[in-house]
Amino acid sequence: MLKDQDRIFTNLYGMHDRTLAGAKARGHWDGTAKLIQAGRETIIERMKASGLRGRGGAGFPTGLKWSFMPKESDGRPAYLVINADESEPGTCKDREIMRHDPHTLIEGALIASFAMNAHTSYIYIRGEYIREREALQAAIDECYDAGLLGKNAAGSGWDFDLFLNHGAGAYICGEETALIESLEGKKGMPRMKPPFPAGAGLYGCPTTVNNVESIAVVPTILRRGPEWFAGFGRPNNAGTKIFGISGHVNTPCVVEEEMSISFEELIEKHCGGIRGGWDNLLAVIPGGSSVPCVRGENMRDAVMDFDALREVGSSLGTAAVIVMDKQTDIIKAIWRLSKFYKHESCGQCTPCREGTGWMMRVMDRLVRGEAEIEEIDMLFDVTKQVEGHTICALGDAAAWPIQGLIKNFREEIEDRIKANKTGRMGAMAAE
Ligand code: SF4
Repeated sequence: MLKDQDRIFTNLYGMHDRTLAGAKARGHWDGTAKLIQAGRETIIERMKASGLRGRGGAGFPTGLKWSFMPKESDGRPAYLVINADESEPGTCKDREIMRHDPHTLIEGALIASFAMNAHTSYIYIRGEYIREREALQAAIDECYDAGLLGKNAAGSGWDFDLFLNHGAGAYICGEETALIESLEGKKGMPRMKPPFPAGAGLYGCPTTVNNVESIAVVPTILRRGPEWFAGFGRPNNAGTKIFGISGHVNTPCVVEEEMSISFEELIEKHCGGIRGGWDNLLAVIPGGSSVPCVRGENMRDAVMDFDALREVGSSLGTAAVIVMDKQTDIIKAIWRLSKFYKHESCGQCTPCREGTGWMMRVMDRLVRGEAEIEEIDMLFDVTKQVEGHTICALGDAAAWPIQGLIKNFREEIEDRIKANKTGRMGAMAAE
């Protein structure tokens, strides 16, 4: 279990002072100018050496992503955009950083922007996050007053401005190019790639979009050294990670833990175990609503990192762990996710616009068992026609939960169809 002295986020639960004075007392903003004066190349090399992989879901190496930004400006400014849209059902980790430990993010934004030659950074925060926006804006204002932002930020010699932009509450704006469109004042619709944002992003300028947690861990990694961070977790899955565990555990929580912790340890140590005991565990969605569910018996020994969860047919995603016990109607649970993705599709490409609605309507009937057995395979085929055939990953996000359901719980779906035909519907499905 992660020791207290190795926690990056020391005020995740808001038990301490979140102001600048409190943050400084906990070691933040300590020697920031010196970290910056190490130079751009050194910072990027250190981030690569730390093994940090993006915490927004895709797990792309952060240092490598930074290195894609142009070394020399061609006259265009460069931007760092921080994705604080956090709208994936089950995911609620970045909000804890922003409302209780905002200075980790602001200091990280300064250092990361310097490393990418950006004098300006934008934080794009989810529309529903009102209190988080207030906390973050108060922290930004404090930093301007203290000379940590603005001209010669933190005495580093680097001029840096940080702006907070409040979204309007669309899930799709968490997709990096839709986020950029929205920041530009347009409808949040994903762009075709290429060009990638590092070549032409915000206002057509080189841009890197990073998740809140990815940026907020940067100052501590540089202060304590990349080897320290790389020392946690298995190779290629380094570091500490914020997990958000919800659903049928005894004490749902958000907790910073060592990467590659076992699922059982995570649940036993921090969540007081599964509601009704381990034999009552039905399924787990280990990484936010867009990743496939895994049967409970296959999760118990699973290791919580990028590579291990791929081996059990799912993904670490944002490490938003949704636990479902045997009282759950799993078909209905996945139907609810289908409804969500259908609602959030931006409608720009046909397989997603039509497919999400089509899949949701079939799921709707599967919940009640009003379908033919052959339709299960037909639904699976449709998910395959949506997956990978759309402009952005929302199409995949809509397809994967259904694929996970069919792969893991086909028997339950078939039973319900048969029960409906014989008039013996389960109580939950009939609701
Ligand atoms: Fe829009 Fe869906 Fe296409 Fe993404 S996949 S661009 S959300 S229609």
